[in-house]
Amino acid sequence: AAKIFYDKDADLAALKGKTVAIIGYGSQGHAHAQNLRDSGVKVVVGQRPGGKNYDLAKSHGFEPVSAAEAAKQADVINILLPDELQADVYKAEIRDNLKPGNVLMCSHGFNIHFGQIEPPKGVDLLLVAPKGPGHLVRSEFEAGGGVPCLIALGDGASDETFKIGMAYAKGIGGTRAGVIQTTFAEETETDLFGEQAVLCGGAAALVKAGFDTLVEAGYQPEMAYFECMHELKLIVDLFYQGGLSYMRYSISNTAEYGDYTRGPRIVTEETKQEMKKILEEIRSGQFARDWILENKAGAASFKATRRREREHGVEKVGKELRRMMSWINEKEVD
Ligand code: NDP
Ligand code: MG
Ligand code: MG
Repeated sequence: AAKIFYDKDADLAALKGKTVAIIGYGSQGHAHAQNLRDSGVKVVVGQRPGGKNYDLAKSHGFEPVSAAEAAKQADVINILLPDELQADVYKAEIRDNLKPGNVLMCSHGFNIHFGQIEPPKGVDLLLVAPKGPGHLVRSEFEAGGGVPCLIALGDGASDETFKIGMAYAKGIGGTRAGVIQTTFAEETETDLFGEQAVLCGGAAALVKAGFDTLVEAGYQPEMAYFECMHELKLIVDLFYQGGLSYMRYSISNTAEYGDYTRGPRIVTEETKQEMKKILEEIRSGQFARDWILENKAGAASFKATRRREREHGVEKVGKELRRMMSWINEKEVD
């Protein structure tokens, strides 16, 4: 079983007299910076000017500086930029401002695990990753709670770095919920696998295939949208509260019988074999290499796919239908 740490296992004293740089004031950055400050930790925000996140940091009472300046001032440096940009910003602004004894942090191990960021000698690597979006990390903290976190140490990192990690997790509220010990490899590989096979890739492909099947059979797209996309949230909420058993307790017996007898025909042994291949591509570094090269090519195919996917029928009808449901808090991307 996993090793889990709580408030009593962490001491904020490990960060006393230290400055923490939060590089990037986005989803995670804005939450870490404010929670740490509220916990009495000295924080410097590294955020490029010109965008709304710079203004947001200012409005929250920070005086944002460049990533280089933040790294120079701090003892503990957390890079909270989009994963595909971290290596370039690290090489251009952060690396040469690191001193022996500094701790370099991240909230997802992609760049460290796949060798895109290699810290200089004397700088320990540390991962503290909330298992939730930044907005929840902030709102739970303000409500007196916290979001569970993962903690991992780079090769050869000291006990002192572990204590800093636990203090950091406490400072953002994580130890109130529980902090699970993992490794860079495990965090990176399971995170990528989950989003590709189940959460994002798998779920989106399942919704589209179900929607297309109904529409191609002549049913109205509005009906297909409700059955194959909209209602998914209601089901997932039941998973979230009480697992598969609670979902099955809550639905009709007819739906439950259909679940047992038809579900395994949709996600088959063949699907699982493909999942194993996807996992192997992650472990071998093939996925990382593809994604890094894609970005070096200006993300041409990524952007084209994004554009095409936005044209899918389920997106068109969904946009119309969500407008009818005022309670949804509908969002549109540009
Ligand atoms: P966001 O996309 O929300 O934030 C990105 C930040 O980087 C913004 O402040 C943005 O500033 C800045 N930025 C973007 N482009 C550049 C650039 N070219 N140069 C300098 N700064 C730039 O990131 P997240 O918070 O989602 O992710 C940060 C890390 O946290 C990642 O490693 C991610 O994997 C991890 N993580 C994310 C979770 C999540 O739920 N979001 C959950 C757990 C971990 P600007 O406004 O100027 O563009
Ligand atoms: Mg992820
Ligand atoms: Mg139904």
